[in-house]
Amino acid sequence: MPPSHRYSREFGKVAADPTDLELWVGQEWLSVFGARRSGDRRSPDIFITKRSDSEHVLLIIELKGRAWVNGGHEYCPIHCSTLGYSNQIICYADNCWTTANFEGVARLVIGPDEHRNSFAGWGGKGLVPEDGPRYGLEAAFAIQQASLKKWHFAGLRELVAGIKQLPDSPARRDALYLLLGWLDRVRL
Ligand SMILES: [Zn+2]
Repeated sequence: MPPSHRYSREFGKVAADPTDLELWVGQEWLSVFGARRSGDRRSPDIFITKRSDSEHVLLIIELKGRAWVNGGHEYCPIHCSTLGYSNQIICYADNCWTTANFEGVARLVIGPDEHRNSFAGWGGKGLVPEDGPRYGLEAAFAIQQASLKKWHFAGLRELVAGIKQLPDSPARRDALYLLLGWLDRVRL
């Protein structure tokens, strides 16, 4: 099955003509469409939109690498006033960070595979079950868990394996040359 079909199945709502997809840095999309809330610099890392309708965001992607999910007691002016805490998983699953309407948008975290089913990659900034009773954040923990259901997760090994499995094609060669181009630019 071609990869585009596999992704269409996994990310149901993203199902679209692959030739009609466009990539954006999240911050740039927000600037172009004037969708920032006043004073709020937050943004997911990458958006995929329709090429024929750039305002139509299909998928937002947060890249975590080894980084912790950002969050804290003052992370969000809207959620923290009622929950006492928030983080990217909660806020990017909601509309608190933008004036655009992200209802129905698919969400994806790409990070280390071992963090798929654990909080290990969240460091001290995501909530673990004990944080509820310990810090009075039961409501925030419950919302975090509900928000997680709005996200998909892809591991880095999974991503590499997917590229390796692509048959030799211009698309596969382009992906590899792009990576090699980055190496050249930073002179490793
Ligand atoms: Zn928020």
